[in-house]
Amino acid sequence: MIRSSDEIAKMRRAGRVVAEMHAATRAAAKPGVTTAELDRVAAEVIERRGARSNFLHYRGFPAVICTSPNDMIVHGIPDGYVLAEGDILSVDCGAIVEGYHGDAAFTMGIGEISPEAARLLEVTERSLWAGIEQLRPGNRLHRVGEAVQKVAEAAGYSVVREYVGHAIGTAMHEDPQVPNYWPGTPGPTLKPGMVFAVEPMVNAGGPATVLLDDGWSVVTADGSLSAHFEHTIAVTADGPEVLTVL
Ligand code: MG
Ligand code: MG
Repeated sequence: MIRSSDEIAKMRRAGRVVAEMHAATRAAAKPGVTTAELDRVAAEVIERRGARSNFLHYRGFPAVICTSPNDMIVHGIPDGYVLAEGDILSVDCGAIVEGYHGDAAFTMGIGEISPEAARLLEVTERSLWAGIEQLRPGNRLHRVGEAVQKVAEAAGYSVVREYVGHAIGTAMHEDPQVPNYWPGTPGPTLKPGMVFAVEPMVNAGGPATVLLDDGWSVVTADGSLSAHFEHTIAVTADGPEVLTVL
């Protein structure tokens, strides 16, 4: 799907709302705060900007953000979990402006975190930027996953296979998917106007995942820490343009 400059302008505005949700939840996430409180903080941003939530009611999801602490990889439901010093927390945020979607995630430390946890966050964010760098006209989409995988595995970590990035536009999840690994077959050739959400999920241990009984929360099978960073990015003639920024 090729988006016009008008459509990309709307996605830039949706992306800005998502970036504001990041800033607000990041500032609020401290020891003693619940993940449900972070959801309220993010919902206030959506309301203030006159945007809509793409997460709320998505297949029955009950919140406007996902909050995934420690060994939880993605899709955690904000609840009464009280953040503690030393936790890491992944926060995934989305918003719709005039029918166009933004989607982005980050992982942060709560208070002081271990050097091992800090290294996982640094490597995972670096793997996202290595993937973003590949979003150039004429390149092939599978280069994104190859770049992510190379950074993560060089650090001794593993990338999750069951959950992947995606094209995005008038729906949050559009085809094609954007795996964080070599998918076994080459991806489509990139053209200006394509927009993707690139979102490496990197585990400190093995790649295996377990879906919890709530039907949403995904954790590492081995209990190791996991981090998740995501941006929504447009392919332009000049290279990648990250849309989920202030
Ligand atoms: Mg997301
Ligand atoms: Mg996404």
